[in-house]
Amino acid sequence: MDDLKSLIREVPDFPKPGILFYDITTLLKNPAGLRRVVDAFAGHYRTQPVDLVVGIEARGYFFAPAVALALGTGFVPVRKPKKLPHEIEFWEYDLEYGTDRIEIHRDAIEPGQRILIVDDVLATGGTAAASARLVEKLQGKVAGFAFLIELDFLGGRKKIADYDITSLVHYQ
Ligand code: AMP
Repeated sequence: MDDLKSLIREVPDFPKPGILFYDITTLLKNPAGLRRVVDAFAGHYRTQPVDLVVGIEARGYFFAPAVALALGTGFVPVRKPKKLPHEIEFWEYDLEYGTDRIEIHRDAIEPGQRILIVDDVLATGGTAAASARLVEKLQGKVAGFAFLIELDFLGGRKKIADYDITSLVHYQ
């Protein structure tokens, strides 16, 4: 997937000093690159039963609806706090400083539905693990995760080791 890596722009010191930000807007505007990501995610999960694709706000939304269309499923957004208008479930998780929280509509997932979770980057794995807990709170079953980028050196995979994971581009 080196061709995909060449489409990702690395921006030092964004959004704060010391962070190397992986900017995927350069990949998204490339038709072959965008198709490659969606085909790879859908190809990986086509042979496994998936009932719904969940995208994580915000950059998970770039891919999740396209993957849902490719798999013939619906799409459900996991959102940041106070964005969803109807009854919600939430999951809170620890950050380096403080906590964060993600939310989903309580009626978005039915018990037993198999859920594919899509995001752009697997970094420390906190967001991914929280998403799995949220799906399971609604009695969904996590079919697996799909990430464009995995930052191997942060070890996020360990937090979701019980699940199937596909990541297309790795940084060591
Ligand atoms: P984490 O919970 O640490 O796995 O962080 C995952 C979320 O943070 C993803 O939704 C990414 O959008 C974002 N993220 C973390 N690190 C980076 C990075 N270096 N470049 C771009 N996005 C990042």
